[in-house]
Amino acid sequence: MSIKENIKKIKDDIQKYSPYPEKVKLIAVTKYVDNSTIEKVLDGGSEYLGENKVQVLTEKENYFKDRKVKWHFIGNLQKNKVKYIASFIDMIHSINKLSLAKEIDKRAKENNRVIDVLLEINVAQEESKEGYILEELYKDIPQLLELKNINIVGLMTMAPFTEDESILRSTFKKLNSLKEDFNKEYFNGTLVHLSMGMSNDYKIALEEGATFIRVGSKIFENLSEGI
Ligand SMILES: *Cc1c(COP(=O)(O)O)cnc(C)c1O
Repeated sequence: MSIKENIKKIKDDIQKYSPYPEKVKLIAVTKYVDNSTIEKVLDGGSEYLGENKVQVLTEKENYFKDRKVKWHFIGNLQKNKVKYIASFIDMIHSINKLSLAKEIDKRAKENNRVIDVLLEINVAQEESKEGYILEELYKDIPQLLELKNINIVGLMTMAPFTEDESILRSTFKKLNSLKEDFNKEYFNGTLVHLSMGMSNDYKIALEEGATFIRVGSKIFENLSEGI
């Protein structure tokens, strides 16, 4: 297999499993690989790339300046590092507290931009997980809505680490229904994205309405020698 064939297989799955494949984008998670491999991902037809470390991301962004890459930040983002990505980042998937949202808003403004962001939700309400717990989020929503240089366009979650399909499916269903509720109560229909699903669970996430799937390992598995 080649990277290009792996990407093709995932894009075929988008057509097969999503109720609205035309709305879905593959975020190729390139955190595991170097620039020469990223080159193959871009040539393989994926222009949306996901990274979870600011330092690595800025180096890669600089290297690929001349290519049309849409960089998505998918990891835990430290406030003091927002300034390094604010000028170019296409979307930040992982807002998990008000202070982070305020910092992104401030740095976006300095760059004369409005940055698209997602609210990361800890759906399972697990202690160890990143992401907003709902109680906290409900408290912050009024202030989040006042930030003019961030555009909150959807929700993101990481499913629990399990192979139990029913747990995965109910996590994704829950995120989808939260999006509906928030749209009715606060966002007036402006939440349009659901970022959910990784290599092991993206098919289920697609069935449950994902618009971004974040896939890493599956793009880089079973590669033939020399490819
Ligand atoms: C690494 C990572 C992914 C991709 O995981 P794979 O299992 O390799 O597909 C997706 N989302 C986030 C937030 C990640 O950190």
